[in-house]
Amino acid sequence: MRQQLVRIMEDQGITDQRVLEAIRMVPRHYFLDSAFEERAYENRAFPIEAAQTISHPYTVAFQSQLLEVLPGDKILEIGTGSGYQACILAYMGAKVYSIERQEALYNITSELLPRIGFRQIRTLFGDGYKGAPRFAPFDKIIVTAGATEVPKTLLSQLAIHGKMVIPMGDDDQQKMIRYTRDSVKSFRKEEFGAFSFVPFLKGVNKGN
Ligand code: SAH
Repeated sequence: MRQQLVRIMEDQGITDQRVLEAIRMVPRHYFLDSAFEERAYENRAFPIEAAQTISHPYTVAFQSQLLEVLPGDKILEIGTGSGYQACILAYMGAKVYSIERQEALYNITSELLPRIGFRQIRTLFGDGYKGAPRFAPFDKIIVTAGATEVPKTLLSQLAIHGKMVIPMGDDDQQKMIRYTRDSVKSFRKEEFGAFSFVPFLKGVNKGN
Protein backbone atom coordinates (compact mmCIF):
# COMPACT_ATOMS: atom_id res chain seq x y z
CA MET A 1 0.00 0.00 0.00
CA ARG A 2 2.90 2.31 0.75
CA GLN A 3 4.42 1.48 -2.65
CA GLN A 4 1.15 2.50 -4.29
CA LEU A 5 1.17 5.75 -2.34
CA VAL A 6 4.69 6.43 -3.60
CA ARG A 7 3.47 5.96 -7.19
CA ILE A 8 0.67 8.47 -6.61
CA MET A 9 3.26 10.95 -5.26
CA GLU A 10 5.41 10.43 -8.36
CA ASP A 11 2.41 10.95 -10.65
CA GLN A 12 1.66 14.19 -8.83
CA GLY A 13 5.18 15.49 -9.49
CA ILE A 14 7.27 14.55 -6.45
CA THR A 15 10.76 13.84 -7.80
CA ASP A 16 13.03 14.01 -4.74
CA GLN A 17 14.10 10.39 -4.36
CA ARG A 18 14.83 10.71 -0.66
CA VAL A 19 11.35 12.09 -0.01
CA LEU A 20 9.83 9.19 -1.95
CA GLU A 21 12.01 6.71 -0.07
CA ALA A 22 10.88 8.17 3.28
CA ILE A 23 7.20 7.92 2.26
CA ARG A 24 7.90 4.32 1.26
CA MET A 25 9.55 3.46 4.56
CA VAL A 26 7.69 5.34 7.32
CA PRO A 27 4.48 3.47 8.27
CA ARG A 28 1.71 6.09 8.22
CA HIS A 29 -0.76 3.87 10.09
CA TYR A 30 1.23 4.37 13.32
CA PHE A 31 0.11 7.98 13.36
CA LEU A 32 -3.60 7.48 12.88
CA ASP A 33 -6.43 6.78 15.22
CA SER A 34 -7.21 3.04 15.06
CA ALA A 35 -10.57 3.92 13.47
CA PHE A 36 -8.71 5.10 10.35
CA GLU A 37 -5.78 2.68 10.42
CA GLU A 38 -6.99 0.64 7.45
CA ARG A 39 -7.20 3.77 5.33
CA ALA A 40 -3.78 5.11 6.27
CA TYR A 41 -2.42 4.89 2.73
CA GLU A 42 -5.16 6.87 1.05
CA ASN A 43 -3.91 10.22 -0.16
CA ARG A 44 -6.00 12.28 2.22
CA ALA A 45 -5.90 14.07 5.56
CA PHE A 46 -7.41 12.43 8.66
CA PRO A 47 -8.54 13.74 12.04
CA ILE A 48 -6.20 13.17 15.00
CA GLU A 49 -6.51 14.13 18.70
CA ALA A 50 -7.39 17.67 19.80
CA ALA A 51 -9.44 18.35 16.63
CA GLN A 52 -6.30 18.56 14.48
CA THR A 53 -5.36 16.68 11.31
CA ILE A 54 -2.50 14.62 9.93
CA SER A 55 -1.64 16.27 6.60
CA HIS A 56 -2.21 14.64 3.19
CA PRO A 57 0.78 12.50 2.17
CA TYR A 58 1.08 14.70 -0.91
CA THR A 59 1.30 17.82 1.26
CA VAL A 60 3.95 16.19 3.45
CA ALA A 61 5.92 15.14 0.37
CA PHE A 62 5.56 18.57 -1.29
CA GLN A 63 6.73 20.52 1.76
CA SER A 64 9.60 18.06 2.33
CA GLN A 65 10.69 18.44 -1.29
CA LEU A 66 10.64 22.25 -1.09
CA LEU A 67 12.88 22.09 2.00
CA GLU A 68 15.65 20.39 -0.06
CA VAL A 69 16.63 18.37 3.01
CA LEU A 70 20.27 17.36 3.32
CA PRO A 71 21.41 14.66 5.74
CA GLY A 72 22.53 16.40 8.94
CA ASP A 73 20.25 19.44 8.46
CA LYS A 74 18.92 20.89 11.69
CA ILE A 75 15.19 21.36 11.09
CA LEU A 76 12.53 23.09 13.15
CA GLU A 77 8.96 21.94 12.58
CA ILE A 78 6.01 23.99 13.82
CA GLY A 79 2.95 21.79 14.44
CA THR A 80 4.03 18.28 15.47
CA GLY A 81 0.43 17.04 15.15
CA SER A 82 0.59 13.28 14.64
CA GLY A 83 4.40 13.29 14.32
CA TYR A 84 4.31 11.85 10.77
CA GLN A 85 5.99 14.81 9.04
CA ALA A 86 8.71 14.91 11.71
CA CYS A 87 9.45 11.21 11.10
CA ILE A 88 9.64 11.72 7.32
CA LEU A 89 12.28 14.46 7.85
CA ALA A 90 14.15 12.38 10.43
CA TYR A 91 14.13 9.40 8.06
CA MET A 92 15.80 11.68 5.49
CA GLY A 93 18.67 12.20 7.93
CA ALA A 94 17.67 15.50 9.53
CA LYS A 95 17.96 16.39 13.20
CA VAL A 96 14.38 17.45 13.92
CA TYR A 97 13.01 19.74 16.63
CA SER A 98 9.21 19.83 16.56
CA ILE A 99 6.92 22.18 18.50
CA GLU A 100 3.23 21.58 19.27
CA ARG A 101 0.81 23.94 21.06
CA GLN A 102 -1.74 21.22 21.99
CA GLU A 103 -0.47 19.53 25.13
CA ALA A 104 -2.47 16.35 24.42
CA LEU A 105 -0.70 15.91 21.07
CA TYR A 106 2.67 16.75 22.58
CA ASN A 107 2.14 14.02 25.20
CA ILE A 108 1.12 11.44 22.59
CA THR A 109 4.03 12.07 20.21
CA SER A 110 6.61 12.33 23.01
CA GLU A 111 5.73 8.75 23.88
CA LEU A 112 5.09 7.45 20.35
CA LEU A 113 8.14 8.67 18.42
CA PRO A 114 10.84 7.02 20.58
CA ARG A 115 8.73 3.85 20.77
CA ILE A 116 8.66 3.45 16.97
CA GLY A 117 12.38 4.13 16.68
CA PHE A 118 12.60 7.91 16.16
CA ARG A 119 14.60 8.79 19.27
CA GLN A 120 16.47 11.55 17.43
CA ILE A 121 13.36 13.79 17.19
CA ARG A 122 13.13 16.37 19.95
CA THR A 123 9.49 17.19 20.75
CA LEU A 124 8.73 20.53 22.42
CA PHE A 125 5.53 21.88 23.96
CA GLY A 126 5.03 25.57 23.28
CA ASP A 127 3.91 28.33 20.95
CA GLY A 128 5.55 27.86 17.58
CA TYR A 129 5.36 31.60 16.86
CA LYS A 130 8.30 31.93 19.25
CA GLY A 131 10.31 29.21 17.53
CA ALA A 132 13.01 27.48 19.58
CA PRO A 133 15.68 30.14 20.28
CA ARG A 134 17.65 27.72 22.49
CA PHE A 135 18.39 25.53 19.47
CA ALA A 136 18.59 28.19 16.72
CA PRO A 137 19.83 28.75 14.06
CA PHE A 138 18.08 26.14 11.91
CA ASP A 139 19.04 25.07 8.39
CA LYS A 140 15.38 24.60 7.57
CA ILE A 141 12.04 25.55 9.15
CA ILE A 142 8.74 23.94 8.18
CA VAL A 143 5.39 25.31 9.35
CA THR A 144 2.54 22.80 9.05
CA ALA A 145 -0.35 25.13 10.00
CA GLY A 146 -1.76 27.96 7.87
CA ALA A 147 -0.39 31.40 8.79
CA THR A 148 -2.03 34.77 8.09
CA GLU A 149 1.14 36.79 8.78
CA VAL A 150 4.86 36.17 8.30
CA PRO A 151 6.33 35.03 11.61
CA LYS A 152 9.39 37.31 11.78
CA THR A 153 10.75 35.50 14.84
CA LEU A 154 10.96 32.29 12.81
CA LEU A 155 12.76 34.01 9.92
CA SER A 156 15.29 35.35 12.44
CA GLN A 157 16.03 31.78 13.61
CA LEU A 158 16.98 30.67 10.09
CA ALA A 159 20.66 30.13 9.26
CA ILE A 160 22.17 32.05 6.32
CA HIS A 161 21.22 30.09 3.15
CA GLY A 162 18.50 28.40 5.22
CA LYS A 163 14.97 27.84 3.92
CA MET A 164 11.57 28.19 5.52
CA VAL A 165 8.48 26.59 3.98
CA ILE A 166 5.18 27.98 5.24
CA PRO A 167 1.56 27.94 4.02
CA MET A 168 0.22 31.51 4.03
CA GLY A 169 -3.25 32.86 3.37
CA ASP A 170 -6.62 33.13 5.07
CA ASP A 171 -8.45 30.52 7.13
CA ASP A 172 -9.72 28.50 4.18
CA GLN A 173 -6.82 28.34 1.78
CA GLN A 174 -3.13 29.05 1.74
CA LYS A 175 -0.35 29.35 -0.83
CA MET A 176 2.83 27.45 -0.12
CA ILE A 177 5.62 29.98 0.36
CA ARG A 178 9.34 29.31 0.52
CA TYR A 179 11.71 31.90 2.00
CA THR A 180 15.44 31.53 1.44
CA ARG A 181 17.77 33.58 3.62
CA ASP A 182 20.38 34.93 1.20
CA SER A 183 22.18 37.06 3.81
CA VAL A 184 21.58 38.40 7.32
CA LYS A 185 19.07 40.93 6.00
CA SER A 186 17.76 39.58 2.71
CA PHE A 187 15.17 36.90 2.14
CA ARG A 188 14.02 35.59 -1.22
CA LYS A 189 10.35 34.62 -1.51
CA GLU A 190 8.91 32.01 -3.89
CA GLU A 191 5.28 31.00 -4.25
CA PHE A 192 3.90 27.54 -5.00
CA GLY A 193 0.43 25.95 -5.22
CA ALA A 194 -2.65 26.20 -3.02
CA PHE A 195 -3.24 24.01 0.05
CA SER A 196 -5.59 23.87 2.99
CA PHE A 197 -4.22 23.65 6.55
CA VAL A 198 -5.58 24.01 10.08
CA PRO A 199 -4.80 27.51 11.43
CA PHE A 200 -1.50 28.58 12.97
CA LEU A 201 -2.75 29.82 16.37
CA LYS A 202 -1.00 31.83 19.07
CA GLY A 203 -0.43 30.57 22.61
CA VAL A 204 -0.75 27.02 23.93
CA ASN A 205 -3.65 24.74 24.88
CA LYS A 206 -2.91 22.92 28.12
CA GLY A 207 -4.63 19.74 29.26
CA ASN A 208 -5.62 16.45 27.70
N1 SAH B 1 2.84 18.06 10.89
C1 SAH B 1 1.62 17.47 11.34
C2 SAH B 1 0.41 18.25 10.83
C3 SAH B 1 -0.47 18.60 11.97
S1 SAH B 1 -1.72 19.80 11.69
C4 SAH B 1 1.54 16.00 11.00
O1 SAH B 1 2.43 15.48 10.30
O2 SAH B 1 0.61 15.32 11.44
C5 SAH B 1 -0.97 21.25 12.35
C6 SAH B 1 -0.60 21.26 13.81
O3 SAH B 1 -0.09 22.56 14.11
C7 SAH B 1 -1.75 21.01 14.79
O4 SAH B 1 -1.45 19.92 15.61
C8 SAH B 1 -1.84 22.32 15.59
O5 SAH B 1 -2.18 22.13 16.95
C9 SAH B 1 -0.41 22.85 15.45
N2 SAH B 1 -0.24 24.30 15.69
C10 SAH B 1 -1.03 25.33 15.31
N3 SAH B 1 -0.52 26.50 15.75
C11 SAH B 1 0.63 26.21 16.44
C12 SAH B 1 1.59 26.98 17.16
N4 SAH B 1 1.49 28.31 17.31
N5 SAH B 1 2.63 26.33 17.73
C13 SAH B 1 2.77 24.98 17.62
N6 SAH B 1 1.88 24.20 16.97
C14 SAH B 1 0.82 24.80 16.38
